[in-house]
Amino acid sequence: MKRLYEPDAYRSGLLPANFWDTTENTDLAQITPLTDEVTVDIGIIGAGITGLNAGIELVRKGLSVSILDASHSGWGASGRNGGFVCMGGSKNSWHSLIQKHGLDNAKQFYRAQIQSIESVEENLDSLSLKVDKHSNGEWEMAHDSYAMKDLVADAKFMQHNFGLKSTIYSPSALKEIGLSSSAFHGAVQNPHGFAINPRKYVNGLRNHYLNTGGMLFGNSKVSTIERQDNCYLLRTAQGVARCKKLIVATNGYTADNWIKGLSGRYLPTVSNILVSRRLSAQELQQQGWTAHEMCYDSRRLLHYFRLMPNRHFLFGLRGGTSLSENSVKKSHVRARHDFERMFPAWAHIETPWFWSGLVCLSRTMNMYVGAIPDWNNAWTGMAYHGNGVAMGTWTGKKLAQLAVGEKTKIPKIMTTLKKFPLHPLRKNFIKAAYSWYETQELFQSIRQKLF
Ligand SMILES: Cc1cc2nc3c(=O)[nH]c(=O)nc-3n(C[C@H](O)[C@H](O)[C@H](O)COP(=O)(O)OP(=O)(O)OC[C@H]3O[C@@H](n4cnc5c(N)ncnc54)[C@H](O)[C@@H]3O)c2cc1C
Repeated sequence: MKRLYEPDAYRSGLLPANFWDTTENTDLAQITPLTDEVTVDIGIIGAGITGLNAGIELVRKGLSVSILDASHSGWGASGRNGGFVCMGGSKNSWHSLIQKHGLDNAKQFYRAQIQSIESVEENLDSLSLKVDKHSNGEWEMAHDSYAMKDLVADAKFMQHNFGLKSTIYSPSALKEIGLSSSAFHGAVQNPHGFAINPRKYVNGLRNHYLNTGGMLFGNSKVSTIERQDNCYLLRTAQGVARCKKLIVATNGYTADNWIKGLSGRYLPTVSNILVSRRLSAQELQQQGWTAHEMCYDSRRLLHYFRLMPNRHFLFGLRGGTSLSENSVKKSHVRARHDFERMFPAWAHIETPWFWSGLVCLSRTMNMYVGAIPDWNNAWTGMAYHGNGVAMGTWTGKKLAQLAVGEKTKIPKIMTTLKKFPLHPLRKNFIKAAYSWYETQELFQSIRQKLF
């Protein structure tokens, strides 16, 4: 299998230093590999948020379903993310989406993003999942005064075009509500979204799927997919799953030479998370950060952070195109440096947990939901651009509807999955883009200091 990252990025089993492992037990001994031949209506590859939501929906519709995962449910991005249930699925600005696709198509995409948050909420309610939910919407923090002006202009633009009613906060207003850091020049609060413990969410989905009759096989990497008598044969080291229809839910962990229709059409990049030890009430006061709102900053390679209900602080950092031991170490140093810069009162606080994982981009910089190019009865949902907790939930449900032939609307913006030009080199291009963003930020911070 041709992979875009170093072998360590795909090694199955528990991740070292992942904070979520301390909150939920993943018993590797309980994972059953596929050792035989099974025949089902629908085979799903990937037991993350997308695959599990598709599986739950299909079992509910009365179909027989088998999910195969190379490691275990939630091993991919779904069980190691920041738990932001938020709008997303694109790296394009709303301005450019409207310009390129028109306001009506942009509105459909916007509605889908709101629905995606609602679909997580529905899951939590209907499956009675306890996931440490908190935060009233999502807060975008301006990293400099120029960014603050842009945020205010964007908020007006969003209200005008989509009716999004956000609230603007000055630095002093932020201080009053317990979101204080001299790193921020104000913020805009989008009322949509909330935060969760993602591992609890995935485990809850998995349990429901299994309890309602779904089949799940871990340690079952699908090495080849063959067509035979109008069926797909999903071959693993020890077994084979035969299915009439197929859903591929492998997102950033997809191998590049595995499914011809997907090859060269997606681009995994790295996101990293640092988690602090439990902070005391006094330590929270010292920084002036006592609120449990989920936040991200306005940088292109953004930071995302939130004080969790258990008073551990989660601090995430996007960017990176390597998961070699050395690169992970560098990202760790950078995350720690940025954490200390943005939260100086906590510069002495230990951050014992740090881990990385793959998010997925596409050439159009929009997510994809639909058929796998050139294959019949096979679908995929991917390239959530780092926001797949809500969007993966929504997409999983949509993939299930597509697989049973139900009429369902997918916004046009999500229906293109183009090949990257010179796709074998695409990781180098994103690396160059990241370096360019870093240089831009350096100039911006000089400008901020000088003027
Ligand atoms: C560090 C980090 C932080 C993030 N934070 C957030 C956040 O706060 N909010 C948000 O919305 N999104 C966040 N994301 C993104 C989000 O987690 C993902 O978009 C989402 O989880 C994707 O879910 P998925 O089910 O499509 O794929 P994944 O969860 O990645 O699952 C793919 C699965 O496919 C399996 N697989 C791959 N190949 C094979 C094969 N050949 N055979 C069998 N199985 C295979 C893998 O083992 C894996 O379990 C973050 C991601 C990372 C890495």
